[in-house]
Amino acid sequence: GQFWADSAGKDWGEDLPRILCTPPHFAYLRVAEGCDNRCSYCVVPSLRGGLRSRPLPSLLREAAELAEAGAKELILVAQDLGSYGRDLNPPLSLSILLRSLCRVEGLEWIRLLYVHPARVTEELVRVLAEEPRICPYLDLPVQHIDDDLLRAMNRGVSSARIRQVVEELRSAIPHIRLRTTVMVGFPGETEYRFATLLDFIREAQFDHLGAFAYSREEGTPAAGMKGQIKSEVKARRLREVMEVQAEISRRKNRALVGTRQRVLIDGKEGPSESVHWGRISGQAPEIDGAVQVWGKGLSPGQLVEVEIVGADTYDLVARCLV
Ligand code: SF4
Repeated sequence: GQFWADSAGKDWGEDLPRILCTPPHFAYLRVAEGCDNRCSYCVVPSLRGGLRSRPLPSLLREAAELAEAGAKELILVAQDLGSYGRDLNPPLSLSILLRSLCRVEGLEWIRLLYVHPARVTEELVRVLAEEPRICPYLDLPVQHIDDDLLRAMNRGVSSARIRQVVEELRSAIPHIRLRTTVMVGFPGETEYRFATLLDFIREAQFDHLGAFAYSREEGTPAAGMKGQIKSEVKARRLREVMEVQAEISRRKNRALVGTRQRVLIDGKEGPSESVHWGRISGQAPEIDGAVQVWGKGLSPGQLVEVEIVGADTYDLVARCLV
């Protein structure tokens, strides 16, 4: 999950009408609220409480309604998506939820955001590899790679396991695009430990990476830890991470030039009838860049075949083939 809160916590109201705040061709489906992990820097568990998963029938009903209303892409979100269903009676899993959602008529793409590396099971990797409607995409927040820091962060996962998860995903789904989040400036992050993180970023070659400077949240165990890092050091480390990643993202995007891809059209760009924005399945809306598509008569929600003709660090340019 993420270490910030985006709205006040609340319990699920089955009767509450859903407010659609995204274009109708994609929608976010919040499958659980709260988190049972206790990352030492995070305020979410104290703000929102423990994991509360929504029952499967209610999620399937909402997914069907969204598809009926025109949603082609469903983006699953939760603070700790990989733990979905553990608290239900009988317990369920994210894999079971995914298999069921893949049967909902009308949905073309199902995307997963925020899967803690400790929750990536063999079964989940199999579902991702087998179900064609699940985007070959995963947002896997690693935060760091130094084992002492991972322990101090109470992430419940070792550097060896993180590396193994990345490898398992790539070998089962060779064209998967991976996003991650890293945190710089956590208490005790020496220059050596930071260098280890930079090396890992170079080695892992994530397609997308978000970096954050550690912020001292009152009431969390990390706020009282020794070895707090000065803000100018955090800012410098953040810059270095982004520079290293920009090069990787640029190279990865350029490697797509000349390939054929399917793009989901999001909308028009400006007044021109022949320039649109869309996304390949490896790009989540709002965070991962987009594809500028040249082609006439396209409308939001349409899936089209394109050829990628240009690329920069974040965005791609494509020519529509239909
Ligand atoms: S997994 Fe960790 S960082 Fe994410 S919400 Fe839970 S406690 Fe916070």
